[in-house]
Amino acid sequence: MKTLESRLKQIKAQIKHAAEEHERSADSVQLLAVSKKQPADQLRAAYALGQSAFGENYLQEARDKQEQLADLDIEWHFIGPIQSNKTRELAEHFQWVHSIDRLKVAKRLNDQRPEQLPQLNVCLQINIDNEPSKSGISLEALPALAEEVAQLPRLRLRGLMAIPKAEENPLRQRETFGKLTQAMRNYPEMDTLSMGMSADMNAAIAAGSTLVRIGTAIFGKRSV
Ligand SMILES: *Cc1c(COP(=O)(O)O)cnc(C)c1O
Repeated sequence: MKTLESRLKQIKAQIKHAAEEHERSADSVQLLAVSKKQPADQLRAAYALGQSAFGENYLQEARDKQEQLADLDIEWHFIGPIQSNKTRELAEHFQWVHSIDRLKVAKRLNDQRPEQLPQLNVCLQINIDNEPSKSGISLEALPALAEEVAQLPRLRLRGLMAIPKAEENPLRQRETFGKLTQAMRNYPEMDTLSMGMSADMNAAIAAGSTLVRIGTAIFGKRSV
């Protein structure tokens, strides 16, 4: 059986390889370990191996782990759908939120971000394949939302995030990611393209991803 250590090493080597293949440096792509449905001891083990940024989808589950791991200096990223009545805990306990998809949520996070903390880093989620089942805004709606969010003083608008529909063909994966890369060119103040998961990481890096969100390839299959 593969160990966490060997999987983590392999993913890092894969990121480096994909980056270099596209004339990018390995450190231009950040690795976010997606730890949803993984117990706290798995995060602790990954942290001991040098992984300090973790992505979580479910607020209560994340809060439980944050309590169990309070002794570690983890950078917490929220990547799941946001209920607007749950924004306070996001504003108080995370450094990043990738899944902003409406102004109401952004305003609440801005108002609730504690004064003593730095700005909350945020990405706008784009529903890149216009799938009714997925959250996120259309590319057409991006300029208006980006303009409003950029004005919220307690948020720092870092970039765009997308979860494309499942697609096996690497060229088509890359084409879809390319739309996000293209869209970000209009916003020189943004520096983050949160795209690429276990199954499409290489294509995402080829298209310009700066942050890949990897769960399964690090921790193995999730028990549901
Ligand atoms: C679960 C999840 C991931 C990681 O997916 P894997 O296929 O396990 O790598 C990345 N991003 C989001 C938003 C997720 O929900």
